[in-house]
Order: sequence, then C-alpha cells, then structure tokens
Amino acid sequence: MKTVVGLAGLKFEIMEEPDNQALQLGREFGNRGQCNPTYFTVGNLVKHLVELRDGAGIPTERIIREYAFVTAGGCGPCRMGMYATEYRKALRDSGFEGFRVLLFTRSGDVQDVLMDGLKLTNTDLLRFFFAIMVGDALNSINIKRRPFEETPGSVDAQVKEARALVQEGISQGRWIRGMWQARKILRSMKLKREKRPVVHIMGEFWAKTTDGEGNYHLFRFIEKEGGVVSNETLTDWLLHQIWRARWIASRKRTGRIWSGTEVQLLVLEKLIKFFFLGIGSLLGEKLHLSNHGELATLAKEHFDLHVDGGEDHMEVAHHIHIAKNRLADLIVSVKPFTCLSSSGVSDGVQNKISNLYPQVEFIAVETNGDGAANFYSRIQMGLQKVSAQFR
Ligand code: SF4
Repeated sequence: MKTVVGLAGLKFEIMEEPDNQALQLGREFGNRGQCNPTYFTVGNLVKHLVELRDGAGIPTERIIREYAFVTAGGCGPCRMGMYATEYRKALRDSGFEGFRVLLFTRSGDVQDVLMDGLKLTNTDLLRFFFAIMVGDALNSINIKRRPFEETPGSVDAQVKEARALVQEGISQGRWIRGMWQARKILRSMKLKREKRPVVHIMGEFWAKTTDGEGNYHLFRFIEKEGGVVSNETLTDWLLHQIWRARWIASRKRTGRIWSGTEVQLLVLEKLIKFFFLGIGSLLGEKLHLSNHGELATLAKEHFDLHVDGGEDHMEVAHHIHIAKNRLADLIVSVKPFTCLSSSGVSDGVQNKISNLYPQVEFIAVETNGDGAANFYSRIQMGLQKVSAQFR
C-alpha cells in the first residue's frame, strides 16, 4: 500500500479495490438487508484496518488515534443515508470502536464535515476536486483506448506510468508539468484501428464506476467480448449534484431574478466543465460531459424530477439521450442487488423508454457478489445481438 503526502500536509493511503472478501466482512459485521455497495465498502474498511493491525502490526489504539476514513455519504432516501450508521456498527463489532469516518454528503455540507475533521481550507477542497477530475480523465482515457491496444497490457501500463507522473507533479505543486509529461506517454500509445460495438455503462453510481469484483470486472469483460466501453465519470455525477442544487434553488425563487446561490452554482458548474475539458486537452484526449439541463428536460416527461435518491432521473435521461443520438449500440444498466433507487424506481420506467426508443439495445443487470455466470450470460446475449453488424 502506497502512502502519499497530499493536501494540507496530511498523509493519504490508497485503499485496495473492494473485493469479495470485503463483501463477506461487510455482510458479517453489517446490518441485514443493506445494498451491495454498503457491504463492499464497509467490509473493505474493516479489511483494511485488520491488515494494518495484524499485517503491519500497528496497535489498535494508534490506528484509532492517527487514521481516519473519508468517503461519500448522504442523507437518503436510499441506503446512502445509512452509511454512517453502518460504518459505526461494523467498526464497533470488529474491534475498532471510535475510528473516525468522515463523510462527503450530497446535501451540501461537505465543508462542515471535512473541515471539522481534517481542518481543510477551501483551497484544499478545490485542489482535492481537481485531483478527482485528473483521475477521472486518466480513467476515461484508459477505458477508451484499452480495447484497441496493439500489445496486450500496454495501455494499462502506460496509463499507470502517466498517473505516476501526474501524482509526482501534484505532490511538487507542478500540476501542469506533471500532466504535460503524462501527455507524452499517452501520445506514444500504439493503437489499432478497428470498429467495435459501443457499450454504454450506466446505472447505480458505485456499480457503474467501480472496476473490480463489485461489478464482476464489467469493463474488462465487455472488452474481452469485443466491445468498447463508454463510461460515466465522477465529475459528471458531481455536475449533476450541482445542477440539482441549482434547480432546487430556482424552485424556491419567487421572481425572475436569480438568487446568489443560483449564480454561484452556475459559475461552479462552468468552472468544473472548463477544468475537466481542459485537463482532457492537456492530456491529449477529447473528453465529454453531460448537459444536465438537457438531461432533465428529456427525463421529466417520464420521471418526476423531485424524486431524489441514487441517480435521481439520470438513468432514464441518459437512456433517452443515448438512444436519440445513437451514441451507443448497447446500454448496460448495472445495479447492486436490492438497490432501492436503481432497481426499484428507475428500472420501472426503463421498460417504457426501451419501447419508445428501440434503436438501442438496453439491458439491466444486477450484481450480488455470487451470481457472475448469470450476469455474464446476459451481457453476452446483449453483445451478440448488436455485434452482427461488426462481423
Ligand atoms: S443507490 Fe442503491 S446501491 Fe447505491 S447506496 Fe443507494 S440503495 Fe445502495
């Protein structure tokens, strides 16, 4: 495990991708009836702390005193609202009572939570989000190019090298230089020119962005089966949250003049877009971000925009947008077993959208940690249907 010194002189450790062992630990120490991301992420923290204690020999008291875990949380209405309680219960029952868990929430109190716990300034937070955008950009480049690599494994290796250069640049305060050096590595990639079916992965936030046992290595499976993945990014999700906060503020307004909050949120949205697309250009890749106002307009006829939780109306909106513009051949909507918002709400609408826009194949698949064969076979069936034109 690598430790890096980052914001405000704090030391950061990058945790492993949650695996099935983490899932088992999550189930063992968590409450019954939680969704998969809860079990995977809670279990992963317990697994990590046990490794620190038993593997690295760090006494429990020191772990509780010197370490903290920063993650995403929320106020509901989906299980995200219960994450904090789940962490506390699992940590208590696994022998780490008192360990600090600091949550970013989607209700706008990021600052309160983080600054109380870590004493971060606004500048630190901006740098933090900038680092997320760079990571997002590098991940997207990796996913976009990997299916076309001439030598197996070369794109992963080159992106890893590029990431290390960016990381070094960030730690020396020379962000642009780090990215410029990474660009040279990325430009030297040897890629094949061939046509492949485009598979857009959408769905529940954690299931669609994770790249591991939590979604049965979905990205790599699709690549192995001959597809190329079109992915959704964390930055896009962040933009959606900002759009939503602005929309809520606009609903409270009585006149036509925008409130200060609305203006601030619009500026923030523009800045994020400017930086993310700029990072892409610097790294030599044309990246894409959604127009969330347009997505909301597309969805509102079928999905009440007031319904909050998980992806809100985004799954329905992305489906319509992709189908209308023929941006993919197949859409895979991936959701964890028992997800309230994705399986319980969005999927109820998706059937109608599939009937209205049959030009793009749509399949919804669930992950539950032990149903890989069924999961893979549904993806294969979807891919076979759309692959005929590429043979
Ligand atoms: S969106 Fe679904 S899977 Fe994700 S935290 Fe909420 S209930 Fe769980």
